[in-house]
Amino acid sequence: MPNTPDTPSGTPHDTRRLRDIIDNISDWIWEVDHTGRYTFSSGQSRPLLGMEPEDVVGRTPFDFMPPGEALRVKDEFARILAEEKPFAGLINRNQRADGSIVVLESSGIPVFDAHGRFAGFRGIDRDITPKGVAPDLRLFQLEAIFSGAPVALGMVDRASRILAVNEAFAQLCGHTAVELTGKRLSEAHPRLPVLCERQLELADAGQPIPEEEIDIDGRYYQALFKAVANPFGEVVGLSAALMDISGRKQAEQSLAIANRELEFRADHDHLTALANRRQLDARLEQEMRRACRTGSHLAVIIFDVDYFKEYNDHFGHLAGDQCLRTIAAALENLFRRPGDLLGRYGGEAFLAILPAINRQGAAALAETARLAIEALALANPAGTPGCVTISAGVATLDDIGHTGSRDWAPLVQAVDRALYLAKQMGRNRIRMV
Ligand code: GH3
Ligand code: MG
Repeated sequence: MPNTPDTPSGTPHDTRRLRDIIDNISDWIWEVDHTGRYTFSSGQSRPLLGMEPEDVVGRTPFDFMPPGEALRVKDEFARILAEEKPFAGLINRNQRADGSIVVLESSGIPVFDAHGRFAGFRGIDRDITPKGVAPDLRLFQLEAIFSGAPVALGMVDRASRILAVNEAFAQLCGHTAVELTGKRLSEAHPRLPVLCERQLELADAGQPIPEEEIDIDGRYYQALFKAVANPFGEVVGLSAALMDISGRKQAEQSLAIANRELEFRADHDHLTALANRRQLDARLEQEMRRACRTGSHLAVIIFDVDYFKEYNDHFGHLAGDQCLRTIAAALENLFRRPGDLLGRYGGEAFLAILPAINRQGAAALAETARLAIEALALANPAGTPGCVTISAGVATLDDIGHTGSRDWAPLVQAVDRALYLAKQMGRNRIRMV
């Protein structure tokens, strides 16, 4: 008889009878000491674990479990030992020497010595292996599905120890599944423990864990965490499924870039990247409304390149395009005040909308622009000074009279008239209405 915490008393006959009963009931009866080592095993260890009772004595329950399961149950059992209270329904998966699996349900009561000191547990294990499907075959099938799944799957305990990961998960972290099993989650990837802590807090609070998108080493994953509970409903860890959505994410980003580009193109000129006619019209309407509401100034300048047809004829259309870009960039530098808008009005004409500027200010700006283009000294044999020049028409809301009308057409007609005059008077000059 092994050294049990307390030995059944009575006559040798009583003891034999008790022994017979113990060995012939279908449940396995056992005792462990305060460290969790078996001190007694009934004969049911033979059919259940494939072990002789004397070979069981001295070992721990975890010696018969696959590594991942041993880690999980060890944690639970440590808590049970510490509490020194009865426990029931502790389900655990054990592996016999021949590789077959047996699922046991353990229950036990604490045993105390004559001085009232905790001496271990006495309990029974019941075989609850699912019938119908050979558990080892079932396990083999599940393991095959798990390890080959294209989604990264894993399970951790409360102490962030990895109980199981599949190959897709291990690959994500640059390891193999064998390397990672039993390791701390931080060894798989330094980002993961923080994530899991947050999810465990939610699980403990009984809140659902929302799906989220996370990025790891430049790749994006749809992450789904679920609380893993023991048969008593206590959260003992987390399962994780990470789906690689980098392809979708990249497509979304490309689409966002394409959309931004489309939006830009919708109101910008493709040659000069200045505001296009559509944007200019919209801004004119907006500024007219504001000026009517507040009675503020509003000035408009139209610039037109002189003898540009000749420039094209002489240097070709591609050079003409480049000339327009150079002029656009030079003008853009002059109209940078907040609220100013310079755009390409069409062909070789540019329009500047200048809110809150008076007649003198607008005229001065137009003249500065004219000088700036002349100073570029872009050769044009047809131009009067032998270079590219511009003429400008200037008009303000004061010039046409604040009628209270929001119609901007009269203002544009006014600058057109002023430009016509500048051209009539010999070009390379500015004119006001
Ligand atoms: P003016 O001094 O009276 O303004 O004479 P102009 O030759 O500049 O005016 P005209 O209207 O006779 O000719 C404008 C020229 O501008 C003709 C047209 O081909 C050219 N043009 C308009 N848009 C573009 C463009 O995007 N690129 C190029 N290269 N040329 C353009
Ligand atoms: Mg012109």
